[in-house]
Amino acid sequence: MIIAERYHDISCGHRVVGHEGKCRFLHGHNYRIHFTITASKLDPVGRVLDFSIIKSHLCEWLEHHFDHKFLMWEQDELLEQLLEIQKESLVVVPFNPTAENIAKYLVEVVGPNQLADTTAKLISCKVEETSKCSASYSID
Ligand SMILES: [Zn+2]
Repeated sequence: MIIAERYHDISCGHRVVGHEGKCRFLHGHNYRIHFTITASKLDPVGRVLDFSIIKSHLCEWLEHHFDHKFLMWEQDELLEQLLEIQKESLVVVPFNPTAENIAKYLVEVVGPNQLADTTAKLISCKVEETSKCSASYSID
């Protein structure tokens, strides 16, 4: 299999509902998000997908939707209070925003939507919360 990879850095807040330690508090990370793309065949030039298209379709999606925002699980008990304080900074997501769930959402929901007009497929995503800690999600 031939793959193409590109990463993008964003700053984003979150809290992990049910976390036993300090990750239950409102906090944020300088996330580094790695995208892995494949295609059934290379294009006539010899590419999985031009890197600029990965940027415009996936990296810029992160920039517009997650960067400098706060990811909030739709079932978080603090949601209503935070919506009253600063609604425009919140991104209400259908998952508890762990690195694992962010990676899964990007691969299962964002990738298919954003790459629908291409011949490529997002097959894996790695979400780094720090240079030491990351989670990945992959499909075949
Ligand atoms: Zn965190």
